[in-house]
Amino acid sequence: MSQHALHPRLAEVRETILRRNPGEVEFHQAADEVLATLGLVLERRPELAEASIIERLCEPERQLVFRVPWVDDSGVVQVNRGFRVEFNSALGPYKGGLRFHPSVLLGTVKFLGFEQVFKNALTGMPIGAGKGGSDFDPKGRSDGEVMRFCQSFMTELHRHLGEYTDVPAGDIGVGAREIGFLFGQYKRITNRFEAGALTGKGLEWGGARARTEATGYGTVYFAEQLLAGSGRDLEGLRVVVSGSGNVALYAAQKVVELGGTVVAMSDSGGYVADDAGLDVPHLIELKEHRRERMATYAQEKGGQHVADGSIWDVPCDLALPCATQNELDADGATALVRNGCLAVVEGANMPTTPDAVEVLATGGVTFAPGKASNAGGVAVSALEMQQNATRDSWSFTHTDERLRQIMASIHATCVETAEEYGVPGDLVAGANIGGFVRVAEAMRAQGVI
Ligand code: NDP
Repeated sequence: MSQHALHPRLAEVRETILRRNPGEVEFHQAADEVLATLGLVLERRPELAEASIIERLCEPERQLVFRVPWVDDSGVVQVNRGFRVEFNSALGPYKGGLRFHPSVLLGTVKFLGFEQVFKNALTGMPIGAGKGGSDFDPKGRSDGEVMRFCQSFMTELHRHLGEYTDVPAGDIGVGAREIGFLFGQYKRITNRFEAGALTGKGLEWGGARARTEATGYGTVYFAEQLLAGSGRDLEGLRVVVSGSGNVALYAAQKVVELGGTVVAMSDSGGYVADDAGLDVPHLIELKEHRRERMATYAQEKGGQHVADGSIWDVPCDLALPCATQNELDADGATALVRNGCLAVVEGANMPTTPDAVEVLATGGVTFAPGKASNAGGVAVSALEMQQNATRDSWSFTHTDERLRQIMASIHATCVETAEEYGVPGDLVAGANIGGFVRVAEAMRAQGVI
């Protein structure tokens, strides 16, 4: 990533962000990364910064914070906090997932919503940006408890949603089960089968084929494009995939399908490494159906389970961080460089710390930011909305082909934009500027709102 001195105007924007959002370090980090690249736009397209477009873009259109009371299995009333940050609707209805994890704060949701603005713009589709969630932890909760939580969460949130207004989907801790409970409650309260109000639905009730796989597959399609730029492909590559949730599992599946070997995967309890390659179908069964841990995988299928180490120490040609923010730090990046890793392609949102990005750049490792490389999930969510609007249902193959084309087009946008703005090969700048230009042009046309 290139480090551009911050333009005075952008330094002011940054000050305002810090003042208005105290302590929200992840949001500051995400904003810093974007602002560091927008100086190039101010030089070449000053009209896109008129009427305080950048200032408006850094301030969410609406932020919702609400109480979520629910009754657990022992009859005790639990209280969680719910969030929805509706960041930008210049391109379409707010679109972005819900995260249920004990670490979720308003600043977490704000950083994710901000990333979503650029990501959704890069897809070229008619979707604005939002993100939501709660500090509720579904882990260890019964299905009944998860259902009661989801019902309470949706009882408040429903008034802000709608296929033309705001369309949530899943993220960490929100998968098919949670989307089912959320949609059921939305339908009950509104008395409408409004399929387009949520994405990631089950196939029998308005879901899209390939949505489950989309973020992971899309990340690997992006990696495929990136490798093709230097005349390579995934055949024979050793790949480390962090995480073992929705994104990680389907990234791993696609890596294997394209001839790579997944040599390590993880969860918050540690990682499993196996030079011979992990058994991905077994892992999908274990994680998705049995909700088991990586440690159990090692007991059943072998490989070395390391509880307290860093997955980035495992030698690989390609690294796909697919778990959570800031999981790949400078030490991890140093290990990747030392082991001759070719590229880091983010499947998660902001998994690589700024220091690590710097280490990778210095070490000659190509780096693809998540707002470009993990956009496949939201892109197929937009295709799900399209199918809902026309009461249609496409085949897996058709949707997967569309996804592959979209990822190739996002990759091309990043590469071409970086070249156009004089920073060839800088995919971070390419993604930020490519996304910004599309949103800024729409905001400019729509007046001061
Ligand atoms: P899941 O809940 O399905 O999986 C998350 C995985 O990451 C789990 O293996 C989990 O381990 C691990 N993890 C989560 N938090 C932590 C933590 N604090 N420390 C260590 N490990 C952690 O989530 P998704 O796969 O849906 O999301 C993963 C990432 O991808 C997130 O950054 C998300 O924002 C991003 N993303 C997701 C999209 C989607 O379509 N789902 C779309 C675009 C981006 P454990 O089970 O032990 O907690």
